[in-house]
Amino acid sequence: MIEKVYVNREALSLFLEICKDVHPRENIMLIRGKIRGGSADVTEFLIPPFSTYGEGFSGFPTHMIPFDLSIIGIAHSHPSGSCAPSTEDLNNFYGRIMIIAAYPYDEWNLGIYNSKAQKVPYEIK
Ligand SMILES: [Zn+2]
Repeated sequence: MIEKVYVNREALSLFLEICKDVHPRENIMLIRGKIRGGSADVTEFLIPPFSTYGEGFSGFPTHMIPFDLSIIGIAHSHPSGSCAPSTEDLNNFYGRIMIIAAYPYDEWNLGIYNSKAQKVPYEIK
């Protein structure tokens, strides 16, 4: 179970920029990183090749994610301003962690969750 997440600062600012760009629609990206015991290192956010912005997380086809062990989860934005996961988010959980960036998309408005839907402390580095 993931209990701590480290997020690469450069990767995070790119993700947050895209969240701002597509607001008030949702941004959805794949999380690339490494798992080491109880912690996850987020190194990159990838635009899914099949994504269209604004469909919302529940419309995201998780079965179409290419088999790639470096993809450790999905990140998306909440234009509503809440970083709590919705029921749809939890039903569509993919991988080991979920990152939710809430409006206004700064690094203090992130919710990071493990696959048990527990909020996980994070550090940006
Ligand atoms: Zn959501």
